[in-house]
Amino acid sequence: MSRKLGSGKLVIATHNAGKLKEIGALLAPYGLDCLSAGSLGLPEPAETGRTFAANALIKARAAAEGSGLAALADDSGLSVAALDARPGVWTADWAERQWFEGEPGRDWYMAMGKVEGMLQAKGPDTPRDAWFTCVLAIAWPDGDHAVYEGRAEGSLTWPPRGTMGFGYDPVFVPTGRDLTFAELDPSEKHRISHRADAFAKLVADQFAG
Ligand code: IMP
Repeated sequence: MSRKLGSGKLVIATHNAGKLKEIGALLAPYGLDCLSAGSLGLPEPAETGRTFAANALIKARAAAEGSGLAALADDSGLSVAALDARPGVWTADWAERQWFEGEPGRDWYMAMGKVEGMLQAKGPDTPRDAWFTCVLAIAWPDGDHAVYEGRAEGSLTWPPRGTMGFGYDPVFVPTGRDLTFAELDPSEKHRISHRADAFAKLVADQFAG
């Protein structure tokens, strides 16, 4: 059985205002006062892990050690079965426009095209199964930790469809649906997503009973 958060302050180990808002809203019913690592001036550690769990723990531990408070971090990405679960922890890196002059940025169309090109190079009968993973890690300042992994299973389609969502959403069709994550109503995506699955596991373990 893992350690419990109880109520009080929780540092969300993200510098992304959108994630802070989303996570803060999910945890609001449990009486936690959520602060962001960015607002505390904590540095962002390098994500050097080879798994989602390792990277989530790196971020949660850095924030717990830097703040002296319990901290929650997430790490997520897309895995494609026929590509040996890549891009995996390199999901965001595959969208990096390293050669692009000027503002650095991410090009999701390029990243989706890279995955599609690799699948097509393997032949027309290559299975298109894929899954999103979200790992949530909680770290306490004394080194204790808890990890929760959520998944959304599906398959990849081409060309991309839909304008909602972000990242690889336009090519991901969740199992049992015809629409991509970018065509689904956002409330429906949030209900069935890898993030929802990971949060359900965290809530069941941390706050149930
Ligand atoms: P991180 O969790 O911030 O490291 O993000 C990893 C990357 O995974 C993101 O930049 C997205 O491209 C991708 N990703 C994670 N979750 C989703 C999702 O729900 N839809 C589409 N892409 C996602």
